[in-house]
Amino acid sequence: MRIYSKVKRLREFLEWAVEAFQPKCWVCEQPITLEHVGDSCDDLTIHHVDENRANNGIENRVLVHKGCHRWHHWRENEIKAGRPVPDKYPGLCPSCHRRVIDRFGICRECSKEARELVAGAK
Ligand SMILES: [Zn+2]
Ligand SMILES: [Zn+2]
Repeated sequence: MRIYSKVKRLREFLEWAVEAFQPKCWVCEQPITLEHVGDSCDDLTIHHVDENRANNGIENRVLVHKGCHRWHHWRENEIKAGRPVPDKYPGLCPSCHRRVIDRFGICRECSKEARELVAGAK
């Protein structure tokens, strides 16, 4: 299958780049690891520092976790709306590495899954 092999090639390339360059996420400043490359290569993205997607200068593009990226833009929007925002980045979920954690120390999706598992086991 052509699509599969494209993703596979992208994954191989990303895995190599992560090992060779040991990049850090621009938002959370944590190292980007092979776990974050994952199977689908869907958890990393490029952030435009000046928010201008047409400005593709190398200094304007940074590698970020998708979850961190979402959080960053959420925070920017809250600031624009004049609402209070947390100063500190909450961190990526240690379970799925995809979403930002909530007050329980894992993301809302993973805590929901955990609750459903417990409920199902009863
Ligand atoms: Zn991050
Ligand atoms: Zn999670």
